[in-house]
Amino acid sequence: MSTQPSFADNPSNESRDPAYFGYYAMLQHQQNMLQDTVRTSTYRNAILLNTECFEDKLVMDVGAGSGILSYFAVQAGAKKVYAVEASDMALKMKKLVKAASLPNAKNEFLKDRVEVIQAKIEDSSVKAPKVDTIISEPIGVLLVHERMIESFIYARDTFLKPGGHLFPNKGTMYLAPFTDALLFTETMGKARFWEQTTFHGVDLSPLYPDAKAEMFGMPVVGHFDPKSLLATPTSDAEGYEMDFSTITMKALRDFVVPISWKAQYTGLMHGVAGWFDLLFSGNAESEASQPVEMSTGPSAEKTHWQQVRFMFREPLAVNAGQVIRGWMHCVVNDMRSYTVDIEVIAGPYGELSDPNQPFEPLLEQQAKRHARATGEAEGEDEEEEEEDDLQFSRRRGRWELHEQSYNYSYTGSANDMLTKPEHLCMYEPENVDDAYGGITYTV
Ligand code: SAH
Repeated sequence: MSTQPSFADNPSNESRDPAYFGYYAMLQHQQNMLQDTVRTSTYRNAILLNTECFEDKLVMDVGAGSGILSYFAVQAGAKKVYAVEASDMALKMKKLVKAASLPNAKNEFLKDRVEVIQAKIEDSSVKAPKVDTIISEPIGVLLVHERMIESFIYARDTFLKPGGHLFPNKGTMYLAPFTDALLFTETMGKARFWEQTTFHGVDLSPLYPDAKAEMFGMPVVGHFDPKSLLATPTSDAEGYEMDFSTITMKALRDFVVPISWKAQYTGLMHGVAGWFDLLFSGNAESEASQPVEMSTGPSAEKTHWQQVRFMFREPLAVNAGQVIRGWMHCVVNDMRSYTVDIEVIAGPYGELSDPNQPFEPLLEQQAKRHARATGEAEGEDEEEEEEDDLQFSRRRGRWELHEQSYNYSYTGSANDMLTKPEHLCMYEPENVDDAYGGITYTV
């Protein structure tokens, strides 16, 4: 039985720092974010539409990178921005800010307004006063990858004046069941290479279960067709909200997202898709505040965060109207990311397991079931028999959020429809009883 990582271990990020900050020290990677128009203009709108939080205020930019958010804050009238950046990108930012003092500088508006501090925000060397507003873009794949929100929260607790503002102040995670026969087949195809028994005369098949575990254990990052969702979360209430102004470090490092969907179509569920929204409320108490929202969902304009999919090793058949229950448990790891466990059960029968209990990998479960089926297991009891029945409607898996694979097959063109035969099978259900499915039909 593998051990469950827990908050008590509190794995640190430190060992990843050289690679992480080496990456962000490169202009091409800052450029990639700057060129995400949805991202950059959302931040600019949020800042310029809420000047109340910036005009004559002290501001801190946590993880300033190229400094773009600091410059927006100055455009919104900030008195002074403390731009904290750990990587050598801080040197580039200094160059840009320094050029603002040259005669006839185009960036003259930045003169004496931005103080670049090259340090990790957590370093005691960071000397900055308490500020009125903190701006930051600490967001990774599925909101939390890269674990930079922890630095944002640290800055909140250390540098924000009481009643100060955070940009953004909320993130909401959304999960939905998806069908994608092509993606499943491709992944299965990769794993099945290891099924060969005579590869240049060598039997590779002892490694087949491991290959399957590895290929399916990689979250798939990329955009996908919103039509492939078997149920769509439609309201904020169906998302998992993280309020950055109140969330604790503990709640950020170990959390459980409850799952409850009602399938809108009959089909094969291949896994769970995830994305997030960001909210910039500004000064929520003021009438002048103009909240700005941004979605990274499959129906929204594309961003560099894309979406992520966690694929099951075995699809789950669901009927339109059927309830799918479950949870997603995320625990930080020392790869600046999270270990993600997901369990779902289709239908009303059977109890979900406790997300905090140690995870029993699929291979061990299979071995136990095999032992029970062949009578090799001792002490067979009813509970275990019930468990055997549940295997048909329960799926559980583990993914490491940093072990991402990429899928760029979805272009958003009309032809995508033709390449996905399962979409053509997603008819509006007709035979669903209202009492059970909650969907009414007149035939
Ligand atoms: N604010 C910029 C860059 C965002 S990327 C923009 O919006 O374009 C995140 C940046 O935060 C990277 O440049 C990274 O080096 C920096 N960073 C991450 N963790 C940090 C920490 N703990 N202290 C200081 N900088 C950090």
